[in-house]
Amino acid sequence: MNKLDFMTTELNRLKSEGLYNAIRVLESPQGSWLKIGGKSVLNLCSNNYLGLADHPKLVEAAKETLDEYGVGPGAVRSIAGTMALHKELEESLAKFKEVEATLGLQSGFVANQAVIPPIQADGIFTDALNHASIIDGVRLTKSQRFIYEHNNVEDLAIQLDKGKDLKRKLIITDGVFSMDGDIAPLDGIAKLATEYDALLMVDDAHGEGVLGDHGRGIVNHFKLNSDQVDIEIGTLSKALGVVGGYVAGKQVLRDFLEQKARPFLFSSAVTPPDVAAAIAAVKILENDDSLVKKLWDNARYFQGAMKDIGFDTGKTQTPITPVMIGDAKTSSEFSKELLKEGIFAMSLGFPTVPKNQARIRVMLSAAHSKEDLDFGIQKFEMIGKKLNLI
Ligand SMILES: *Cc1c(COP(=O)(O)O)cnc(C)c1O
Repeated sequence: MNKLDFMTTELNRLKSEGLYNAIRVLESPQGSWLKIGGKSVLNLCSNNYLGLADHPKLVEAAKETLDEYGVGPGAVRSIAGTMALHKELEESLAKFKEVEATLGLQSGFVANQAVIPPIQADGIFTDALNHASIIDGVRLTKSQRFIYEHNNVEDLAIQLDKGKDLKRKLIITDGVFSMDGDIAPLDGIAKLATEYDALLMVDDAHGEGVLGDHGRGIVNHFKLNSDQVDIEIGTLSKALGVVGGYVAGKQVLRDFLEQKARPFLFSSAVTPPDVAAAIAAVKILENDDSLVKKLWDNARYFQGAMKDIGFDTGKTQTPITPVMIGDAKTSSEFSKELLKEGIFAMSLGFPTVPKNQARIRVMLSAAHSKEDLDFGIQKFEMIGKKLNLI
């Protein structure tokens, strides 16, 4: 017996159940086409919604900052890691998100760990399909948990009623749900938050750069503001094309988290070149909404064509496009066939999505041209027919 045998056993289980994730390695920059295994493939997997990950303005900003400020942050934000650049990014994000203040963190994942524990809520009301980073953030608390049915405002009301005598209540939802591409009914949730005097927190990771005016996100999309939605979580690693996360809301929220958020206090800051690239990304979005418009044009075009062919694209309301297959083995075979034909699109099966709801998840981007999409649509049709799915 070896102490690590349990790991081998678990890996074998994953493989035998078709749940083992063989991670692909990219040999090229992010973009609409990637090089994988020496072969050029159409990228339908990235969260690079606006094609900013290799945008010349971001690259230039990072390079200049690299020469001026060097590579490392040197410290945690609360000791010697806060540079003028970090403040500049926070201020430009606050303006963009139309809030009083933001606090920068290392990632969107970390932002959820940073915010949820110090609130010390008596009761947390959380959507059943919330992101793993929210679930882990909740796990760091001693709060009573109330899990409400996905996007179900009536069930949220029932749960809030159960917990109505608790003093400090916190409702948490994803803005856009990444497996189905559906949008949280934030207007209805906000009404309940007011009615039950609960704090409301939304994780806008897939909404930024996608929803609302110039991609300002879900709060703007529903014409709400930080009086109704107390806490917004953001990421710089999806539509904004860089890496990092942040919290947006009232000044007092930022002041509080600056003193209390453990990842802010105990983990080093984001590097200067990353921060500079993020500032450049926000500037692009502020000045110009053409990438957001192109993203939505591409989404409508692709989703329309896929429906015409006979595919079921689930309940998406965003550029996230689940192509519903059902059986996990078929879905995984579909993804393999796609790769052979030059298309990189992931199959998602249980437990990431419910049993018998396996799917190919297509992530559209403003980086795609119409020709790219036509190529993708044609291959989907060909393989769909071959596997008797359409
Ligand atoms: C991707 C994602 C995150 C994590 O963001 P990172 O910046 O990549 O850590 C957090 N929350 C949601 C809802 C996400 O989809």
